Amino acid sequence: MPSATFPKRITLLGSTGSIGTQALNVVRAQPGRFTITALSAHSNAELLIQQAQEFRPAAVVIGDESKLGQVRAALAHQPETEVLAGPAALADVAARPDADIVLTAMVGYAGLLPTVRAIQAGKDIALANKETLVVAGQLITDLVRQHGVRLLPVDSEHSAIFQCLVGEEQNPIEKIILTASGGPFRGRSREQLAQVTKAQALKHPNWDMGAKITIDSASLMNKGLEVIEAKWLFGLRNEQIDVVVHPQSIIHSLVQFEDGSLKAQLGLPDMKLPIQYALGYPQRLPNEFPRFSFLDYPQLTFEPADTGTFRNLALAFEAMRQAGNAPCILNAANEVAVAAFLRDEIGFLEMSEVVETSLARVSYLAAPSLDDYVLTDQETRRVAQELARARAV
Ligand code: NDP
Ligand code: MG
Repeated sequence: MPSATFPKRITLLGSTGSIGTQALNVVRAQPGRFTITALSAHSNAELLIQQAQEFRPAAVVIGDESKLGQVRAALAHQPETEVLAGPAALADVAARPDADIVLTAMVGYAGLLPTVRAIQAGKDIALANKETLVVAGQLITDLVRQHGVRLLPVDSEHSAIFQCLVGEEQNPIEKIILTASGGPFRGRSREQLAQVTKAQALKHPNWDMGAKITIDSASLMNKGLEVIEAKWLFGLRNEQIDVVVHPQSIIHSLVQFEDGSLKAQLGLPDMKLPIQYALGYPQRLPNEFPRFSFLDYPQLTFEPADTGTFRNLALAFEAMRQAGNAPCILNAANEVAVAAFLRDEIGFLEMSEVVETSLARVSYLAAPSLDDYVLTDQETRRVAQELARARAV
């Protein structure tokens, strides 16, 4: 087992979000172990400036080009930090030679091209941005092999599985079981789901996350994306992936081996642990995070996922079986549907309708290239936006 070399130089894409800010907390709490090479935000210039002043990276990227002047002016007295803007700059920064690992903590399809560039430049990837593996799992895992880099999961379920597999290199997986909290609407009927509001959907029982993944968790699309993410991270056949609802979110996921033995990883729901594990890998770093006690959780419970009510999970399994560009269509349609729901334009159940109809309408490709994924994403957004507009209230 290789040992970790510290300090590790981190490029943190999406530093102003839920994962990004928690990653910076991990870095602050581990003095001498990590340095920050680059930071990026989409539009939150104020927080990006503060972070840049504290961590003094070699580069920052603001996605929204209209805010470049503001960030440049604020960092004018910090000549060591280059200030850039726009998606092309983001991809360039992901590939800069002065980082060891790129933590992809931006949300959505926007993670794809920077992640491709980082892998091509030989960077290890700490992957929070699951959408990248959903959209282009085959392409990304091929690139990872070709460039000999590590793809380290940050998603808590995948981190759990990854941790269970340490020392098991000789032992094939029989199956994995991804746990799901069930979200705020567990147990509701479709009639009840038709009435739920954005505010209710944004209240996750166990995790405090960005808006998009919180809606995905309420609709079970997040679990569907995670099923596809797991397939690629762990090289699984579709039928080797199960989902079980576990409302307490203490068991973060499980691996079953060929002798029937199950290994699980447990802990309080706190993303700082999987973030730290990915950044520190292969070393476990001491920390002050609150510890789990069984006595505080006398009951850990389990139930099947209701894919009849929560259609998104069934749609994601179906897109995975179809393969090709189907998961890319699923993802793009979902991004459009979630954004429309967050603008109060469509209802909760209509999100699945937009995804399902997009999957039926957008042209299927069995073996897409990177360019094909870019075109599929664009075409799907057009189709899904039209579908969402037709349903807008
Ligand atoms: P947030 O919405 O909290 O943060 C997203 C980050 O990405 C922000 O820094 C945001 O900048 C930036 N961003 C937004 N849009 C773009 C874009 N088009 N291009 C580049 N950057 C952009 O999301 P989360 O931190 O919750 O999630 C990030 C990723 O991690 C997602 O893929 C999610 O699925 C995954 N993940 C998150 C978990 C969590 O607990 N939050 C758990 C497991 C996985 P700005 O602030 O300026 O808008
Ligand atoms: Mg997760």
